[in-house]
Amino acid sequence: MADTLYCYHCRTYHPREEMRQIDTKGGKRWRCIKSIEATKRSVAEREAFGRQMTAINKAEAQSKARILNGQH
Ligand SMILES: [Zn+2]
Repeated sequence: MADTLYCYHCRTYHPREEMRQIDTKGGKRWRCIKSIEATKRSVAEREAFGRQMTAINKAEAQSKARILNGQH
């Protein structure tokens, strides 16, 4: 078997060059770069989504306010 390390995130083994050692509450652990990047991306996507929703909610609130003001 090649030089592989156990990835606690995927619960499987990846080649060592795809791994990063990171500090967790339980001590130092190995995690693959792919999963780290995927997490970073999903966080960024969630934030972008949140901003979008805020903008939509604001627009909706404004149109509701217009209706309430009798401007149909
Ligand atoms: Zn992994």
